Amino acid sequence: MKFFLVLIGPPGSGKGTQAAKLSRWLRLPALSAGELLRQEIKSNTSWGQEIKPLLAKGELVPNPIIEAIIAKRLQKEDAVRGAIFDGWPRAKTQLNYFVNNFLNRPQTKVLAILIMVSDKEVMNRLSGRRVCLLCGANYHILYHPPQQPGICDRCGGRLYIRPDDKPAVIKKRLSQYHELTAPLIGFFRRQKN
Ligand code: ADP
Repeated sequence: MKFFLVLIGPPGSGKGTQAAKLSRWLRLPALSAGELLRQEIKSNTSWGQEIKPLLAKGELVPNPIIEAIIAKRLQKEDAVRGAIFDGWPRAKTQLNYFVNNFLNRPQTKVLAILIMVSDKEVMNRLSGRRVCLLCGANYHILYHPPQQPGICDRCGGRLYIRPDDKPAVIKKRLSQYHELTAPLIGFFRRQKN
């Protein structure tokens, strides 16, 4: 039996944080779509070069790219029992692949969890977010400050502001969430399995 958990929620709702906790409890890998895409950019792959401007603007990357990246990640041994999806599927156009490969599969259980956070709170959280360049740990300048400003408590790496955490891009990501991702809530509510 395989188990796939889907986390749905606006940017900044804490999907990544909850995915990491659930990953430890359930012993399933947490697959962050955004993190996998940022890895491609960091490694300067051809996908990475293509998607870099899209991430900087807060726009969704083309489905074939995200699907191939997820399929590649799921081939790793730690995903034989399933996985936690953080940030995918995030639009109705991404459901086709999801339904065919996960939802309608024998011996496969799917559960979706919705995390609700207001737009105002998202703005507060993301505009103060700092991320470690080395290990990816997240901080917030007020809610969860590092012991030394600009330095990761965990690994000593430098903290940076994600290029898409600028107020104008946060607004764009929020509108993408309301327009494209929120319709998935109804879709998952209608599922019976
Ligand atoms: P957040 O959910 O906080 O906006 P993520 O790290 O999940 O941040 O995603 C960052 C960016 O990566 C998104 O703004 C988008 O450009 C891209 N992205 C993430 N997931 C997907 C996806 N499923 N399909 C297309 N693009 C995606």
